[in-house]
Order: sequence, then structure tokens, then C-alpha cells
Amino acid sequence: MIETTDILIIGGGISGLLTARELRLAGCDVTVLDSQALGQESSWAGGGILLPIYPWRQPVAISDLVMPSIAAYPRLQAEILAATGLDPQWRPCGMWISQNPDVELAKAWCVERAVSFHDGASFQPAGIQAKQQNALWLPEIAQIRNPRLIKSLLAYLRQLGVRLLEHVEITGLTTSQDKVLTLSTQQHRWQFKHLVLAAGAWTPQLFQQLLPDQSPVLPIKPVKGQMLLFAAPANLLNCMVLDGDRYLIPRADGKILAGSTVEDVGFDKTTTLAAREALYQFAIEVLPALKDCALETHWAGLRPGSPNGVPTIGMHPQFSNLGINVGHFRNGLVMGPASAQLLADLILQRPPSLKPDAYAWRI
Ligand SMILES: Cc1cc2nc3c(=O)[nH]c(=O)nc-3n(C[C@H](O)[C@H](O)[C@H](O)COP(=O)(O)OP(=O)(O)OC[C@H]3O[C@@H](n4cnc5c(N)ncnc54)[C@H](O)[C@@H]3O)c2cc1C
Repeated sequence: MIETTDILIIGGGISGLLTARELRLAGCDVTVLDSQALGQESSWAGGGILLPIYPWRQPVAISDLVMPSIAAYPRLQAEILAATGLDPQWRPCGMWISQNPDVELAKAWCVERAVSFHDGASFQPAGIQAKQQNALWLPEIAQIRNPRLIKSLLAYLRQLGVRLLEHVEITGLTTSQDKVLTLSTQQHRWQFKHLVLAAGAWTPQLFQQLLPDQSPVLPIKPVKGQMLLFAAPANLLNCMVLDGDRYLIPRADGKILAGSTVEDVGFDKTTTLAAREALYQFAIEVLPALKDCALETHWAGLRPGSPNGVPTIGMHPQFSNLGINVGHFRNGLVMGPASAQLLADLILQRPPSLKPDAYAWRI
């Protein structure tokens, strides 16, 4: 059976869903297809910190997506909450960073990007026992609770009239010289004006399946991250704490996340005892009161890793109606709104909200 839609998006993680929202709000008829349940991969598994880890050590192209995204979140979460009654739990709880050997770089970044900061020595959170070196306190940094964001965003998109289809198996793509024409699934043949790939860590596989003659493949690979969740009481910790490459995130109900590992092990999403031990030791050393809290859950997700963490957002060099929004590595939530807007700008041929060159799709 033939189905039609203006925009067909493959992948229902945060990248696909926020792209769907942008294009739907611009008046397009939008459909999202996912091979599994929608939004249950990396976008569900992440910590939801709305700041990259040490953004001053990362490429400028990351900060250029981060800052407009951070600015967009208050309105985005209010829009979703007002429409659905479901709270994605955006909370500007602040972040305390224990060690900053490059504190001058950090402060310069904060000044340049208008992020407020204070000397962290006098703001050490109660109960925290981390070694300090030029600690910093960033009071306005926010978090969002991934599973709640996904649930509320899906409800919002349904209300907006976006078609959301899960457990769909894609079987093929037809092309002309300069356009992608139809996409087949086991049930349907889709006709569209634009096709968008947003399948996270799986995008290179999908791309090879659909366009085997296009090479080289996208430089994206899965990077496993494991997390622990402690059943902590309310107010045990009131801000996020970053210590080295590990962090604690207190949720609105008091539960505390400890993350995360960074593992190059392919598409293996199993949790390991070694990671559990390492994250547990980190958590109880930094916040000893966690020894008295039950460990509630341990899970893993596959980040869409990319060189330098800079995502690919743009149109295919040959197929003018094939877009991509992928490769956000550790920062898919905090770069999500601006990434979606940039791709929507390019698809709709609006003046782009930021310079697209750094994110261009190069084959
Ligand atoms: C442990 C951990 C901690 C993190 N912490 C943070 C953080 O604090 N802040 C932050 O900003 N980011 C964080 N991230 C990173 C962030 O979660 C990711 O960058 C982001 O979720 C990527 O979103 P995505 O939509 O591109 O991919 P995904 O969420 O992985 O979504 C891809 C979707 O594509 C679907 N799909 C795959 N193959 C196909 C196919 N063939 N056909 C159809 N659909 C397909 C999948 O089922 C999936 O639903 C973290 C990630 C992890 C794992």
C-alpha cells in the first residue's frame, strides 16, 4: 500500500523527535518510523545534563549548538507541559565541578558564552567529599529527565498530528539521479518530499542497507555508557556534581544517577559488574551518604559517537531531499533543539539559524 507524507523521519530518538516537532510546527505533514519502540535507545538512557562535560575542551561547533539549545529548553518544556500535562522535569539545579586544572579556559568560555559562574570553594554541596582543584559553581545549568522528556514529547507530537510508527522494518529505498524517491517497509511504500535519517548509532548500517553504493560510510559508531540509579531520599543532593569524567545527577524526586562509562565495544548493550563496581565506588566516595541508599537500577545505552563529538546535520551532497541529524555522541539532549532547527532550516530553505558548514554531510 502506498502512503504519503511531506517528511519521513527514520529514528524516534531525541534527534528524530525534535526534528519532527520543528517541521510540524512549520506546517509540514510529518511521519516518524522506528524499528523498535520509540525513544528507548540512547535518548532514554542518558543523564540529561544540559551542558557538555567541560565544553571549553571541545570544538566550538559543539558550543554553537549548545548555547541556543540551552536557551530553547525553558520554552520547549513549558510548551510540552502546557499541551500534555506531562512534566519533562527540566530543572535549573546548577552544576558544581570539583576539579578544573584549566580553570582560566573554563572562565573564559563562561564569559564568552554568558554562562554565570562562581568560585566553587564556597559552594561545595552539603555531603560532597570530592578533592577540589579550582572548583567551579555554575548555578544556572539545568537537567532534564530523559524518560519523562521522551514520554511527554511523544504525547505532544501525537497531539500536533505527527504520525509515530514503531516496530517498523525498513526494506529498501529507490532513487533517481539526484533525489530519493520512495522508501519501502514490510507494510508500506512511502512517498515523501524529504527523507531524514536520525537513527543514532545505527545510522551507518541503515545508510549502507539503503544506499550500498555510496561510500565511505558515515564516521559514526556506538559508544556504550552505563549508569546507576540510587533510591536516595529527597534533598540528599540538590545540584549536579561533576568530578573528573564522572557525575552525580539528583532527580526531582531525590533519586540520584551516577554516570557514566565510555566504552568502545560495538553494539553490546549489556551491563557489566566491573562498571557497576566502578560507578558505585565513585558515587559513595563523592557522596558517602549513598552507602545507605539502595541501588535501584543499572542500565546501558549506545551513544552515536562521532569524531570530536560534532554531529552531522545537513543534506546529502548528491540527493537533495535526503537529510541527516546524527552523531551527537555525549550531547544529544543539550544540542537537540538547535540541531533540529538547523536541519529544518535547511530542508525548508529558510535562512539557517547558524552556519551549517561545520556540520555538513560529507561523503
Ligand atoms: C549513559 C549516557 C549518558 C548520556 N548523558 C547525556 C547527557 O547528560 N546530556 C546529553 O545531552 N546527552 C547525553 N547522552 C547522549 C545522548 O543520549 C545522545 O546523544 C542522544 O540520545 C542521541 O539521540 P539520537 O536520537 O541521535 O539517537 P537514539 O536515541 O539512539 O535514537 C535512535 C533511534 O533510531 C532507531 N533506529 C535504529 N535503527 C533503525 C532502523 N533501521 N530503522 C528505524 N529506526 C531505527 C532506534 O530504535 C532509536 O529509537 C548520554 C548517552 C548515554 C548513553
